[in-house]
Amino acid sequence: MGTILVSGASIAGPALAYWLQRNGFSVTVVEQAQALRGGGYPIDIRGTALDVVERMGIRPQLQAAHVDTHRLTFLDGDGATIASFAPQAIVGGEEGRDLEVRRGDLAVALHGATRDVVEYRFGDSIEVLDEDTDGVEVTFRSGLRRRFDLVIGADGLHSRTRALAFGPEEQFHRYLGYCFAGFTMPNTLGLSHEGLMWTVPGRAAAMYAVGDHPKMHGFLNFALREPPFAAFRDPTAQRDLVAAVFADDGWEIPAMVRAMRAADDLFFDVISQIHMPNWSRWRVALVGDAAYAPSFLTGQGSSLALVGAYVLAASLATAPDHTAAFAAYERDVRSFVELNQSLVSEGDALLFPTTADALARRDAMLRQGTATPQATGRPEHSAFTLPAFAA
Ligand SMILES: Cc1cc2nc3c(=O)[nH]c(=O)nc-3n(C[C@H](O)[C@H](O)[C@H](O)COP(=O)(O)OP(=O)(O)OC[C@H]3O[C@@H](n4cnc5c(N)ncnc54)[C@H](O)[C@@H]3O)c2cc1C
Repeated sequence: MGTILVSGASIAGPALAYWLQRNGFSVTVVEQAQALRGGGYPIDIRGTALDVVERMGIRPQLQAAHVDTHRLTFLDGDGATIASFAPQAIVGGEEGRDLEVRRGDLAVALHGATRDVVEYRFGDSIEVLDEDTDGVEVTFRSGLRRRFDLVIGADGLHSRTRALAFGPEEQFHRYLGYCFAGFTMPNTLGLSHEGLMWTVPGRAAAMYAVGDHPKMHGFLNFALREPPFAAFRDPTAQRDLVAAVFADDGWEIPAMVRAMRAADDLFFDVISQIHMPNWSRWRVALVGDAAYAPSFLTGQGSSLALVGAYVLAASLATAPDHTAAFAAYERDVRSFVELNQSLVSEGDALLFPTTADALARRDAMLRQGTATPQATGRPEHSAFTLPAFAA
């Protein structure tokens, strides 16, 4: 069995590491952050991905971390209520079976299942990849050089592994026409297990209280024709851009903008997908957002990361060589991924209408909607059956 370097210790990386080491591979995970990041925004684990966490034996731990959001309330520009729902009614989940946990809680569970059997290198990253016929020579940012049989990029939407092995991100990046800023802020409204979603054409703000904490998550989301490339490397420019977009808005928006300016954990990004003709090249493959980010508008990024990691490991464990394994991984999981990516397309996000007409249509749908969660979830979430896997 071989040696495998995985770049990224969030969802896809540790899940892949788990299944690889169970099948006799020697795995190293490199993560650029200095330590594992806990907490964070809530994510859903649904459909086929639930089978992955069940087979890993971490469902009880995740169940204990279940956020259990009771209510999502949609507000108009003045803060008046349009409609209130159980969240499953909006995103098409299955009440009682789906899990909603903070992203960091899932990362901690995956790391906990692997940390004693997988080598983790925090605070480092891949600088150079040199492939030859029987291995990959890796130079790390720290200066360390090591040789691996295979390298897998699980390093997210802006994957460095992808850039090194496949070229610039632009060719694979599909911008959906929105940007967002996420940050923690004081829970001054006393929200508990609930979210508020305020919308005007082209702009949306959300407050999300995962429990009864004095802090909650704030999101400021807005439509923008072109991605704001200039702001990406400049946190001050990001804050100025978001503040300017929301400058004339009422309700709690001025307080949110102040909180965004003061936040030490501001996360600013485009809402985009990754579409690639191939997820592997020679001895390098990609998994999770690095290969096929669906965007958070689908709510399926973590679930696709878990399923892809499982199938990639199963393929490497059972195929005669890595070339056959990479081909099998892609053949098996691509249509499931594309089905879930197609849950949204450019500018059409149901949650974020960009015109007054689209907003009025959405609000009419919300008013007619029912607060009863769907019994079975969306078929796209479960449109793939995990292969049998011996280990
Ligand atoms: C606000 C928000 C809400 C979301 N809601 C949901 C939801 O409800 N349901 C859902 O399924 N998904 C949701 N997602 C998406 C989900 O978070 C991602 O799809 C998922 O985390 C992808 O996992 P990943 O492991 O592929 O990549 P990521 O989680 O992006 O992790 C990449 C990791 O690689 C590390 N890294 C990056 N560059 C390097 C480098 N050069 N070297 C080493 N390490 C590196 C990063 O630090 C990170 O730890 C949401 C995302 C956001 C932003």
